[in-house]
This record gives sequence, C-alpha cells and structure tokens, in this order.
Amino acid sequence: MIQALEVLLDLLFPPKCVFCGALLQKGESGLCAGCQTTLPWLTGEAAEQKGEFFSLCVSPLRYQDKVRDSLRRYKFSGRRGYGRVYGTLLAQCVHDHLAGRYDLITWVPLSARRRRQRGYDQAFLLASAAAEALGEKAVATLRKARHNRAQSGLGEDATRRANVIAAYEVLDREAVRGRRVLLIDDIVTTGATLSECARTLLAAGAKEVVCAAAARAR
Ligand SMILES: [Zn+2]
Repeated sequence: MIQALEVLLDLLFPPKCVFCGALLQKGESGLCAGCQTTLPWLTGEAAEQKGEFFSLCVSPLRYQDKVRDSLRRYKFSGRRGYGRVYGTLLAQCVHDHLAGRYDLITWVPLSARRRRQRGYDQAFLLASAAAEALGEKAVATLRKARHNRAQSGLGEDATRRANVIAAYEVLDREAVRGRRVLLIDDIVTTGATLSECARTLLAAGAKEVVCAAAARAR
C-alpha cells in the first residue's frame, strides 16, 4: 500500500534534484549525477575545521552556488523534504570523519518562536535523517532559551558570538553527562553557534563535542 502510494506520488510529483531541480533519473536519489560530479564537495582535511569548545566540525559541502540556493530553499521556502537528502550526505561525511567518536547525536535547536514561524526545525530534520542513515536516533539535548537575531543577518565574528551567548540550555544534564556528543546544524559559518552549544553541553558535563554541518560557509 505504501509502495503504491509512493509510485503514485512519484507520478504526480516526479522527484527532482534538490540542488539544481533536474528531474531525477532511475537510480538517482536526491541529487542528479551532474550535481554529484560538480558540486563543491569537501573531502579529506578540507572537510574538517576546528573550533572553540568543539574538537572538530565536518561538512560534506561548501556553502556556495547551488548548495547555497538549495539550503536557502530548505530554510526559507518550506522545502523540508530536502532534509532527508542532506541527512544522507551528512551521514556519509560523519561516517568518513567521525566514526567511533561520539555516543549520541543531537542538533542545534531553533527558538520556539522561529519554529512556529517556519513550521519546522531544519536542523532537527537534518539530524534525524542523518541519524537514521547511521542506524541511530537523534536525541534532543538543548533548548533555545532566548530568541535572538538570526545569525545570517550579522556580519562581524564578535557580533555573531555575542548574539548567541547564553542562548541555549541543556534539557537534561543526566542525558549528556560523560557522553561524547555529535552536534548537528545545517550551516557552519564562523562556528559561533556551534561553539556556544558545545560550551553549554560541556558545562553540563558532556565529555567532548564534535560537530557536523551540511555546508560550510568559510
Ligand atoms: Zn542536480
């Protein structure tokens, strides 16, 4: 029944590449063969960056051109289904760079107000899809305790850092104590948000924090 429904949905809404919009061919899933070849992929050490309070952050893609356009549609134009495709790409990147380095998977949460505005939490969808592809389940550990300005509207590193200070709270300290946490977000720019979340998790007793983001802006 579900399979029949999927076939029907594919006929009504043929699946398209989340990056360029091309109709997908048989055997392609989420993205087309062209994008598979030409997107700004990050591999090896280029996929890794260090940061304050987290040991490592990995990203499979650079945040530019089609990747940027696609992530903007994901965040601002309601394309929540893209999360599954990004999640699969992110899971592969985590598998390649962070296997065996974490005990639980979590995400950078939106404020309740922003989630209401958007209708979904894009980092949660991404983390859930990535966790599922890794055979695990994403666990909520953080709450956005205050609503601040969107980081994407702020330029200076120091301004971005100040904007997120004390913005997050740990939901349940017992759940993170002594654990190595994999923290997931959609885009990493200066790393200020990831650093602040990592700092909050470490203050609650987490042993280590590593991060993964679908795309890296710098
Ligand atoms: Zn494409």
